[in-house]
Amino acid sequence: MPVAIGIDLGTTYSAVAIVDPGSQQPRIIPNSAGDSITPSVIQYINGSFVFGREALSAFISAAPGCAAAFKRQMGSPEKIYQLGSESYSPQELSALLLRHLKEEAEANLGETITEAVITVPAYFYTPEREATKQAAEAAGLKVKKIIDEPNAAALAYGLGSWRENANILVYDLGGGTFDITLIRMAGDGKLLTVATRGDHLLGGRDWDTRLEELLCHKIEHESGIKVANHPTWLAAVRGITEGVKLRLTAMPNAPTTVTLPQHGKVALTVSRREFEEVTSDLLERTGSLCRQLLREVGITREHIADTLLVGGSTRMPGVSLYLTELLGKKPIAHINPDEAVALGAAIQATKQPEGFHQLTVLVNNDGRKSTDLRGVGLASLADTSAPVQTARRLQGIGSISLRETTAHALGIVAVSPEGTHYHNEIIIPANHPRPVRSARGFTFRTSPRSPNIMEIYLLQGDQENPLDCHFMPEKYIVSGIRHLGAQQGKTFMRVQYSYDANGIIQVAARQEQDATDLPIRREALDQDLSRFGRPIYHEEETTFRELAMVLALDVSGSMQGKPLAAAQEAMCDFVSNLDFTHTQLGVVAVSDRAEVVLPLSRDPDLCYTAIRSIKCGLTGRSNRGNPFATILEMLQGEAGRRCAIVLADGVWRYQDKAIADAKLCHEVDIETAAIGFGSADKNFLAAISSSDANALLVAQEELSQAFGTIAQSLIKNREAESRVGQDSQVEPW
Ligand code: ADP
Ligand code: MG
Repeated sequence: MPVAIGIDLGTTYSAVAIVDPGSQQPRIIPNSAGDSITPSVIQYINGSFVFGREALSAFISAAPGCAAAFKRQMGSPEKIYQLGSESYSPQELSALLLRHLKEEAEANLGETITEAVITVPAYFYTPEREATKQAAEAAGLKVKKIIDEPNAAALAYGLGSWRENANILVYDLGGGTFDITLIRMAGDGKLLTVATRGDHLLGGRDWDTRLEELLCHKIEHESGIKVANHPTWLAAVRGITEGVKLRLTAMPNAPTTVTLPQHGKVALTVSRREFEEVTSDLLERTGSLCRQLLREVGITREHIADTLLVGGSTRMPGVSLYLTELLGKKPIAHINPDEAVALGAAIQATKQPEGFHQLTVLVNNDGRKSTDLRGVGLASLADTSAPVQTARRLQGIGSISLRETTAHALGIVAVSPEGTHYHNEIIIPANHPRPVRSARGFTFRTSPRSPNIMEIYLLQGDQENPLDCHFMPEKYIVSGIRHLGAQQGKTFMRVQYSYDANGIIQVAARQEQDATDLPIRREALDQDLSRFGRPIYHEEETTFRELAMVLALDVSGSMQGKPLAAAQEAMCDFVSNLDFTHTQLGVVAVSDRAEVVLPLSRDPDLCYTAIRSIKCGLTGRSNRGNPFATILEMLQGEAGRRCAIVLADGVWRYQDKAIADAKLCHEVDIETAAIGFGSADKNFLAAISSSDANALLVAQEELSQAFGTIAQSLIKNREAESRVGQDSQVEPW
């Protein structure tokens, strides 16, 4: 039997627990010092690492080589912590700490531990969850599951506590973070998280800072010493602050002394009342998040069966008093607040994982999507009655289970339905049971020449503007999309997005026509994402999107036979890749004179027909003319971008006239490109092109490719845009 434990990997303190195989009750595994919790602090000293209380003491005395609170930076790949001669990322430090916790627990149990459930804050985004999982794996633990801290706490409390339909609020105030979560006791012993809110920059440390200011103020008031001006005095005050705070939890007044360099001992007394006064706004911030949460889920405090206190900072007596006032009922705290999370994780470690849910979403009257609570077996949160005969108390860990929800909506950057801006197209809403998957199907234009790839930018958050959301730090690149030739280069794609059981986003893609799964790689996000916040239809971008283009084909005698056929094929191929919703195309034949074969058109079929209808000698058999006056005439009145591609073999008779006419086009911002083959002259091609890059001299069999190169430079940006937002519809995978 593998031995599985639960680990609360806290910002300030960590704890480890296991379900006792005999009693089937969870219990904390104490560390080698006999403490139930271990400070999440590491010190590198004399060539090795020390952890916990020893490292914390070193950290408080500002000794070198210490790292604390690295969980706050979890998911950041940067090695920002210097310990000895090496630097470490938060993930690497977490791996070191986890290995230490594992080894201490193994020493206590006398057994090898193989698996663990690790807890993370509910608000953790995918990168932070992935980093936590990888850290545990690096520490030699198989991660059975990552679960959210409030859910773990509810599991620990859930044994023998609530009736069906009870709403439970988990109030978690730790060292550096605050989380408020609503959990519902559904039928058959299932705990469902309904919604979660939090402030990850609010925690015990903020109370410490306020207390430190109060202490400095008192010292100045009573002894005239301006502590704030002196770093070493300030450090001395900081060193005693948390201790004073803990004492104020135990008693209403805390007399204390602080030793200031040059001044010696200064005695002072702080009262709990004073401490509560200078921190009342912090408590109020937690209260307003509670009220917000209840508002969002549409219930009032009468619908709350119980509030659970979790996190070391809820030991402060002021917290319980405040919540009693706010919610009209005394919160419960019979489990040690800094042990509850680890105990719940241990219970989860005895469970088997749940299967995926297909997305069930309701659209509210206001058009906003919300979780379909009925889909997960809930009627209304306001309905808290349970028939007396079915109300039952849960017995033992086997009778309780957990269904977690997504804390953040999952969306993609897409073009808005009006086509005017980028928006966050939500695929999985927040507070939906997880694991959950949802697929999007859409058509995708492929090209025979360019590598067919699709970039997906993933977002976490509800906001409409992508820049207000949390971008995944990498973009997902779907590659290997095959150009199947059918339907003019259109293929049907399906991308499946999911939150797995750990709350980690996964993406899979499939080309539907031949049901092949496509490889997806992740690449660093672009440095500049500001374009996603700008309107798409800027003036210059309108010009960009709307394209009027003329293809001019040399039909002099030398084109007879193979050259003409190759040119026509290359042109048709090119047409098959155009987006005719934003493009008009015209066709001109040229030799002794120029003739319009097709005026500007948005109909691809007309374009194919026109190109194929071209015969050699249609406009004479030698090269006395040039197409530019005709091109100018066709494009002059058009809005948007205008360009022409001229395909020629051989040399034109009146080169200077051709160059002068091309210049007239350039003067009114018509871009021209020239592709030559056979005996064409590269210098001449460059002279009739609007840039050197637009002039290509190639072999006949490279014509199609050359067209592709030119076309790409002419339409590249428009295509990139149109790929971000596909017409999509929700369909099961
Ligand atoms: P985290 O999960 O963020 O690591 P914990 O839940 O372990 O945090 O809580 C740590 C915080 O609780 C610290 O800020 C600590 O000062 C505070 N704390 C612990 N015990 C007490 C107490 N008796 N009175 C007041 N605050 C306490
Ligand atoms: Mg905690």
